Amino acid sequence: MKGGKSIIRSAHCLKTLVWLLIFLIGGRLVAIDTIRCQLADGFDFPVGKPNGDNYYKFRGYHANGHMGEDWNGRGGGDSDLGAPIYATARGVVVISENIGAGWGNCIVVRHAYRDETGKIAMVDSQYGHLHQRIGRVGQIVEKGQLIGAMGSNNGMYAVHLHFEMRKNLHIGMNRSQFARDDTNYYSPTAFINKHRVLQSSPQKYPIPTGLFAPYGRSLADARIDTGNAVQVPVLPSIKPDSALPAAGPADDDEDFWSKLRARLKQGKVIDGNQPQQ
Ligand SMILES: [Zn+2]
Repeated sequence: MKGGKSIIRSAHCLKTLVWLLIFLIGGRLVAIDTIRCQLADGFDFPVGKPNGDNYYKFRGYHANGHMGEDWNGRGGGDSDLGAPIYATARGVVVISENIGAGWGNCIVVRHAYRDETGKIAMVDSQYGHLHQRIGRVGQIVEKGQLIGAMGSNNGMYAVHLHFEMRKNLHIGMNRSQFARDDTNYYSPTAFINKHRVLQSSPQKYPIPTGLFAPYGRSLADARIDTGNAVQVPVLPSIKPDSALPAAGPADDDEDFWSKLRARLKQGKVIDGNQPQQ
Protein backbone atom coordinates (compact mmCIF):
# COMPACT_ATOMS: atom_id res chain seq x y z
CA MET A 1 0.00 0.00 0.00
CA LYS A 2 2.99 2.24 0.65
CA GLY A 3 3.95 2.01 -3.02
CA GLY A 4 0.37 2.90 -4.07
CA LYS A 5 0.41 6.08 -1.93
CA SER A 6 3.69 7.25 -3.41
CA ILE A 7 2.32 6.73 -6.93
CA ILE A 8 -0.71 8.82 -6.02
CA ARG A 9 1.55 11.47 -4.51
CA SER A 10 3.75 11.50 -7.65
CA ALA A 11 0.67 11.84 -9.84
CA HIS A 12 -0.52 14.73 -7.69
CA CYS A 13 2.90 16.41 -7.95
CA LEU A 14 2.87 16.00 -11.71
CA LYS A 15 -0.60 17.52 -11.95
CA THR A 16 0.52 20.50 -9.83
CA LEU A 17 3.59 20.91 -12.01
CA VAL A 18 1.49 20.90 -15.20
CA TRP A 19 -0.87 23.53 -13.78
CA LEU A 20 2.10 25.61 -12.64
CA LEU A 21 3.56 25.47 -16.16
CA ILE A 22 0.23 26.43 -17.75
CA PHE A 23 -0.06 29.32 -15.30
CA LEU A 24 3.49 30.51 -15.98
CA ILE A 25 3.24 30.20 -19.75
CA GLY A 26 -0.23 31.72 -19.82
CA GLY A 27 0.84 34.64 -17.66
CA ARG A 28 3.91 35.18 -19.78
CA LEU A 29 1.90 35.23 -23.00
CA VAL A 30 -0.52 37.79 -21.60
CA ALA A 31 2.36 39.91 -20.36
CA ILE A 32 4.10 39.84 -23.75
CA ASP A 33 1.06 40.25 -25.94
CA THR A 34 -0.32 43.54 -24.65
CA ILE A 35 1.13 46.74 -23.25
CA ARG A 36 -1.19 49.10 -21.39
CA CYS A 37 -1.06 52.63 -22.75
CA GLN A 38 -3.19 55.77 -22.68
CA LEU A 39 -5.02 56.90 -25.79
CA ALA A 40 -3.21 59.24 -28.15
CA ASP A 41 -4.19 62.87 -27.52
CA GLY A 42 -3.48 63.84 -31.13
CA PHE A 43 -1.19 63.25 -34.09
CA ASP A 44 1.69 65.48 -35.26
CA PHE A 45 4.03 65.26 -38.23
CA PRO A 46 7.06 63.01 -37.70
CA VAL A 47 9.57 65.62 -38.91
CA GLY A 48 9.87 69.35 -38.15
CA LYS A 49 7.53 68.86 -35.21
CA PRO A 50 4.76 69.52 -34.78
CA ASN A 51 3.80 70.78 -38.26
CA GLY A 52 6.53 69.48 -40.57
CA ASP A 53 8.21 72.92 -40.73
CA ASN A 54 11.30 73.02 -42.97
CA TYR A 55 10.40 69.68 -44.53
CA TYR A 56 8.47 68.80 -47.67
CA LYS A 57 6.90 65.73 -49.17
CA PHE A 58 9.09 64.59 -52.02
CA ARG A 59 6.55 61.86 -52.82
CA GLY A 60 3.05 61.42 -51.51
CA TYR A 61 0.74 58.51 -50.79
CA HIS A 62 -0.85 56.73 -53.75
CA ALA A 63 -3.00 53.63 -53.39
CA ASN A 64 -1.50 50.74 -55.37
CA GLY A 65 1.66 52.78 -55.72
CA HIS A 66 3.51 54.43 -52.89
CA MET A 67 1.97 53.29 -49.61
CA GLY A 68 3.49 56.12 -47.59
CA GLU A 69 5.08 59.54 -47.86
CA ASP A 70 8.72 60.48 -48.43
CA TRP A 71 9.77 63.46 -46.32
CA ASN A 72 12.86 65.52 -47.12
CA GLY A 73 14.51 68.51 -45.48
CA ARG A 74 14.28 71.84 -47.29
CA GLY A 75 18.04 72.24 -46.83
CA GLY A 76 18.54 70.14 -49.97
CA GLY A 77 20.86 67.27 -50.77
CA ASP A 78 21.62 65.05 -47.85
CA SER A 79 21.70 67.95 -45.37
CA ASP A 80 18.88 66.16 -43.54
CA LEU A 81 21.05 63.15 -42.69
CA GLY A 82 20.58 62.40 -39.00
CA ALA A 83 17.63 64.79 -38.66
CA PRO A 84 15.35 63.91 -35.73
CA ILE A 85 12.35 61.65 -36.37
CA TYR A 86 9.55 61.93 -33.83
CA ALA A 87 6.70 59.63 -32.82
CA THR A 88 3.59 60.96 -34.56
CA ALA A 89 1.53 60.28 -31.42
CA ARG A 90 1.59 58.44 -28.10
CA GLY A 91 1.83 54.68 -28.61
CA VAL A 92 3.77 51.48 -28.15
CA VAL A 93 6.80 50.53 -30.25
CA VAL A 94 5.89 47.19 -31.85
CA ILE A 95 8.78 46.85 -34.33
CA SER A 96 12.31 48.24 -34.02
CA GLU A 97 14.59 46.34 -36.32
CA ASN A 98 17.04 46.54 -39.18
CA ILE A 99 14.91 44.82 -41.82
CA GLY A 100 17.61 45.13 -44.49
CA ALA A 101 16.61 44.90 -48.17
CA GLY A 102 14.98 48.12 -49.36
CA TRP A 103 13.94 49.09 -45.84
CA GLY A 104 16.92 49.30 -43.54
CA ASN A 105 16.22 50.43 -39.99
CA CYS A 106 12.47 50.53 -39.31
CA ILE A 107 10.27 51.46 -36.40
CA VAL A 108 6.54 50.79 -36.13
CA VAL A 109 4.51 52.42 -33.35
CA ARG A 110 0.96 51.32 -32.53
CA HIS A 111 -1.47 54.00 -31.36
CA ALA A 112 -4.87 53.61 -29.69
CA TYR A 113 -7.12 56.64 -30.13
CA ARG A 114 -10.75 57.69 -29.99
CA ASP A 115 -12.01 58.05 -33.55
CA GLU A 116 -14.60 60.49 -34.86
CA THR A 117 -17.47 58.11 -33.92
CA GLY A 118 -16.25 57.91 -30.30
CA LYS A 119 -15.02 54.34 -30.72
CA ILE A 120 -11.53 53.29 -29.71
CA ALA A 121 -9.49 52.48 -32.80
CA MET A 122 -5.87 51.63 -33.48
CA VAL A 123 -3.40 52.62 -36.16
CA ASP A 124 0.24 51.77 -36.85
CA SER A 125 2.77 54.40 -37.90
CA GLN A 126 5.87 53.19 -39.71
CA TYR A 127 9.22 55.00 -40.10
CA GLY A 128 11.68 53.59 -42.65
CA HIS A 129 15.29 53.94 -43.92
CA LEU A 130 16.41 55.32 -40.54
CA HIS A 131 20.05 56.17 -39.93
CA GLN A 132 19.51 55.26 -36.29
CA ARG A 133 16.69 53.71 -34.26
CA ILE A 134 16.09 54.91 -30.74
CA GLY A 135 12.86 53.12 -29.75
CA ARG A 136 12.81 49.53 -28.51
CA VAL A 137 9.92 47.07 -28.75
CA GLY A 138 7.45 47.38 -25.90
CA GLN A 139 8.46 50.96 -25.09
CA ILE A 140 5.72 53.56 -24.70
CA VAL A 141 6.54 56.73 -26.61
CA GLU A 142 4.88 60.12 -26.37
CA LYS A 143 3.85 62.37 -29.23
CA GLY A 144 6.95 64.23 -30.42
CA GLN A 145 9.36 61.87 -28.69
CA LEU A 146 12.62 61.23 -30.56
CA ILE A 147 12.55 57.70 -32.00
CA GLY A 148 15.22 57.82 -34.69
CA ALA A 149 17.39 59.76 -37.10
CA MET A 150 16.73 60.27 -40.80
CA GLY A 151 18.82 58.10 -43.10
CA SER A 152 19.43 56.70 -46.55
CA ASN A 153 19.36 52.96 -45.83
CA ASN A 154 23.14 52.84 -46.03
CA GLY A 155 23.41 55.00 -49.13
CA MET A 156 20.72 53.17 -51.11
CA TYR A 157 18.60 56.33 -51.42
CA ALA A 158 18.94 60.06 -51.14
CA VAL A 159 18.35 60.75 -47.42
CA HIS A 160 14.64 60.84 -46.59
CA LEU A 161 12.02 59.42 -44.23
CA HIS A 162 9.58 56.87 -45.63
CA PHE A 163 6.48 57.23 -43.45
CA GLU A 164 3.29 55.11 -43.49
CA MET A 165 0.07 54.97 -41.48
CA ARG A 166 -1.59 51.55 -41.52
CA LYS A 167 -5.18 50.82 -40.53
CA ASN A 168 -4.50 47.08 -40.81
CA LEU A 169 -2.46 46.09 -37.75
CA HIS A 170 -1.35 42.79 -39.27
CA ILE A 171 0.92 44.25 -41.94
CA GLY A 172 4.13 44.74 -39.99
CA MET A 173 7.00 44.32 -42.43
CA ASN A 174 5.06 41.79 -44.43
CA ARG A 175 3.39 44.08 -46.95
CA SER A 176 3.37 41.54 -49.77
CA GLN A 177 0.41 39.72 -48.22
CA PHE A 178 -1.88 42.75 -48.10
CA ALA A 179 -3.72 44.80 -50.69
CA ARG A 180 -1.84 48.03 -51.34
CA ASP A 181 -4.82 50.33 -51.04
CA ASP A 182 -7.10 52.31 -48.74
CA THR A 183 -8.51 49.14 -47.16
CA ASN A 184 -5.17 48.68 -45.37
CA TYR A 185 -3.50 52.11 -45.39
CA TYR A 186 -4.25 55.76 -44.67
CA SER A 187 -2.82 58.73 -46.47
CA PRO A 188 -0.49 59.86 -43.63
CA THR A 189 -0.99 63.62 -44.06
CA ALA A 190 -4.77 63.27 -44.41
CA PHE A 191 -4.89 61.10 -41.29
CA ILE A 192 -2.72 63.46 -39.23
CA ASN A 193 -4.64 66.55 -40.31
CA LYS A 194 -7.92 64.88 -39.36
CA HIS A 195 -6.62 63.85 -35.91
CA ARG A 196 -4.45 66.72 -34.70
CA VAL A 197 -6.22 67.02 -31.34
CA LEU A 198 -8.03 64.09 -29.72
CA GLN A 199 -9.78 63.40 -26.46
CA SER A 200 -7.66 61.33 -24.07
CA SER A 201 -7.90 60.29 -20.41
CA PRO A 202 -5.66 58.80 -17.71
CA GLN A 203 -7.19 55.39 -18.40
CA LYS A 204 -4.86 52.85 -19.99
CA TYR A 205 -5.91 50.40 -22.68
CA PRO A 206 -4.27 47.09 -23.61
CA ILE A 207 -2.42 47.47 -26.91
CA PRO A 208 -1.63 44.16 -28.58
CA THR A 209 1.92 43.82 -29.83
CA GLY A 210 1.94 40.49 -31.61
CA LEU A 211 -0.55 40.73 -34.44
CA PHE A 212 1.81 40.66 -37.39
CA ALA A 213 1.60 38.15 -40.17
CA PRO A 214 4.75 36.05 -40.02
CA TYR A 215 7.63 37.79 -41.71
CA GLY A 216 9.80 35.00 -42.97
CA ARG A 217 12.34 37.23 -44.67
CA SER A 218 11.31 35.27 -47.73
CA LEU A 219 12.43 36.49 -51.12
CA ALA A 220 8.83 37.37 -51.94
CA ASP A 221 8.65 39.74 -48.97
CA ALA A 222 11.93 41.38 -49.81
CA ARG A 223 11.12 41.63 -53.49
CA ILE A 224 7.82 43.46 -53.18
CA ASP A 225 9.61 46.33 -51.47
CA THR A 226 12.75 46.36 -53.56
CA GLY A 227 11.49 45.28 -56.96
CA ASN A 228 12.06 48.71 -58.46
CA ALA A 229 14.67 49.87 -56.00
CA VAL A 230 17.98 51.31 -56.93
CA GLN A 231 20.22 48.42 -57.77
CA VAL A 232 23.28 48.92 -55.65
CA PRO A 233 26.13 48.31 -58.05
CA VAL A 234 28.55 45.50 -57.46
CA LEU A 235 32.05 46.93 -57.38
CA PRO A 236 34.17 45.63 -60.26
CA SER A 237 36.38 42.86 -59.04
CA ILE A 238 40.07 43.02 -59.78
CA LYS A 239 41.39 39.90 -61.43
CA PRO A 240 44.25 38.43 -59.46
CA ASP A 241 46.53 38.67 -62.47
CA SER A 242 45.31 42.10 -63.47
CA ALA A 243 47.93 44.51 -64.77
CA LEU A 244 45.90 47.49 -63.49
CA PRO A 245 47.68 49.68 -60.98
CA ALA A 246 46.32 49.16 -57.48
CA ALA A 247 44.76 52.63 -57.33
CA GLY A 248 43.25 52.45 -60.82
CA PRO A 249 39.71 51.16 -60.30
CA ALA A 250 39.06 53.22 -57.17
CA ASP A 251 38.73 56.45 -59.15
CA ASP A 252 36.27 54.84 -61.53
CA ASP A 253 34.20 53.54 -58.63
CA GLU A 254 34.17 56.95 -57.02
CA ASP A 255 32.94 58.44 -60.26
CA PHE A 256 30.24 55.79 -60.56
CA TRP A 257 29.05 56.38 -57.02
CA SER A 258 29.02 60.16 -57.34
CA LYS A 259 26.99 59.87 -60.56
CA LEU A 260 24.56 57.54 -58.83
CA ARG A 261 24.22 59.92 -55.90
CA ALA A 262 23.66 62.83 -58.27
CA ARG A 263 20.91 60.90 -60.04
CA LEU A 264 19.36 60.08 -56.67
CA LYS A 265 19.37 63.72 -55.67
CA GLN A 266 17.79 64.74 -58.95
CA GLY A 267 15.05 62.22 -58.30
CA LYS A 268 15.86 60.17 -61.40
CA VAL A 269 16.19 57.08 -59.29
CA ILE A 270 13.63 56.54 -56.61
CA ASP A 271 13.09 54.18 -53.74
CA GLY A 272 11.54 50.76 -53.89
CA ASN A 273 7.95 51.67 -53.25
CA GLN A 274 7.39 53.39 -56.57
CA PRO A 275 4.67 51.89 -58.75
CA GLN A 276 5.54 50.32 -62.06
CA GLN A 277 5.31 53.01 -64.69
ZN1 LIG B 1 8.93 55.99 -49.81
